[in-house]
Amino acid sequence: MPDLPVLVVGGGVGGLAAALTLARKGLAVRVFEQGAEFKEIGAGIQLGPNVFRMFDLLGLTEAIKQVAFYPHNLVMMDAVTGEEVIRLPVGGAAFRERFTYPYGVIHRGDLHTVMLEACRKEPGITLSVNAKGMRYEDHGHKVTLHLEGGEAVGGAALIGADGLWSTVRAQLLKDGKPRVSGHIAYRAVLPRAEVPADLWQDNVVLWAGPKTHLVHYPLRRGELYNLVAVFHSDKYEEGWDVFGDTDELNRKFAGERPEVQRLLEKIDVWKMWVLCDREPVRGWSKGRVALLGDAAHPMLQYLAQGANMAIEDAVVLAAYLELSGWDFARAFAWYEQARYLRTARVQVTARYYGDIYHASGVVREVRNWFLRPDAPPDPKAKPTFSGVAWLYDGIRVPTVPPDR
Ligand SMILES: Cc1cc2nc3c(=O)[nH]c(=O)nc-3n(C[C@H](O)[C@H](O)[C@H](O)COP(=O)(O)OP(=O)(O)OC[C@H]3O[C@@H](n4cnc5c(N)ncnc54)[C@H](O)[C@@H]3O)c2cc1C
Repeated sequence: MPDLPVLVVGGGVGGLAAALTLARKGLAVRVFEQGAEFKEIGAGIQLGPNVFRMFDLLGLTEAIKQVAFYPHNLVMMDAVTGEEVIRLPVGGAAFRERFTYPYGVIHRGDLHTVMLEACRKEPGITLSVNAKGMRYEDHGHKVTLHLEGGEAVGGAALIGADGLWSTVRAQLLKDGKPRVSGHIAYRAVLPRAEVPADLWQDNVVLWAGPKTHLVHYPLRRGELYNLVAVFHSDKYEEGWDVFGDTDELNRKFAGERPEVQRLLEKIDVWKMWVLCDREPVRGWSKGRVALLGDAAHPMLQYLAQGANMAIEDAVVLAAYLELSGWDFARAFAWYEQARYLRTARVQVTARYYGDIYHASGVVREVRNWFLRPDAPPDPKAKPTFSGVAWLYDGIRVPTVPPDR
């Protein structure tokens, strides 16, 4: 076992998952978060059965269950005509039988709290706030992390879990800024009492409109309603955690179904995100340094899998580290090799999904035509879920080194 702790830059979902998985293997871990506290923004996050498998391994399933909501269906509606385009019964027995684990949705703050509490129970984990990682040195036998303010911390290895604008990635890959997609997301959460009864659904619903979409679903055992409105705009370059312009939003969704308009009207204050991603690449591990989560493979949110992927990353990385006999450089190379194609597939597919959701004109009609079942579904036939199996079947956690 290494004498020095593993250093994790970033205390988001990915960083905490990494800390937890490594501490469970018996390693000392230090997590450095630039913010004044460990916290997540108030919005929802979808959890596929692939990440519930990871929660099981981490012993988090019970805690997640207390705060999650389990939708009955994923439904795509045409925001112009109001027709249902496609429905995936993720809450039914067939889904559970096929994937073993459920499909859930959770408040990001709740997910983060569950992970943070689990980290706090691990004596091997030290959590630091107001600790911004600025640069690192890989000395071959150990690493040094330099924090803002001048402190230098020694470690056995460094994991860059510092998100989309990762400074660790900037030093490791030197590949410039993320790609600004031209898509903007406005997010808000409503208490249940403020949602008109006829607009409440126990489903994840996506209203697909021309260059827009609106997603809504319940959160926190059904006490809250999560809204995400996305539209195209080249007005913004980059930004994070700023307030949205309600007039602009209303203009973008003008002409769409009354259900959409009525839900948008319920929100006075939106938080805005300029959505970015990157081309998938390799090379996100080198020597004793590895990237994880959005730092490694930032993706658009159209498959709702960024956080899911970060947690899968953490489990694979820790498994390989143990299998390598704590040989960091070797384990990090195995980890990247095991993860790059799956995460790249999610990055690339997410972009396609964005195009499909935002189709307009005849393309929109073609979309509805090819997604619609040929015949009314036979109520006795079991859904196969073949389109999502590659994702929701999840990963095999390594039990032997890849070269054996
Ligand atoms: C609109 C939207 C909807 C989404 N919906 C889903 C969904 O339904 N399901 C899903 O799985 N994913 C979803 N995602 C993606 C998900 O939010 C991200 O993939 C996930 O948060 C990535 O986790 P992370 O820990 O890698 O990075 P982050 O969550 O970005 O965490 C990085 C952390 O590092 C800290 N940090 C940054 N730089 C430094 C530094 N230099 N030093 C120290 N600390 C630093 C930050 O303060 C932050 O706490 C969505 C994203 C968006 C924008």
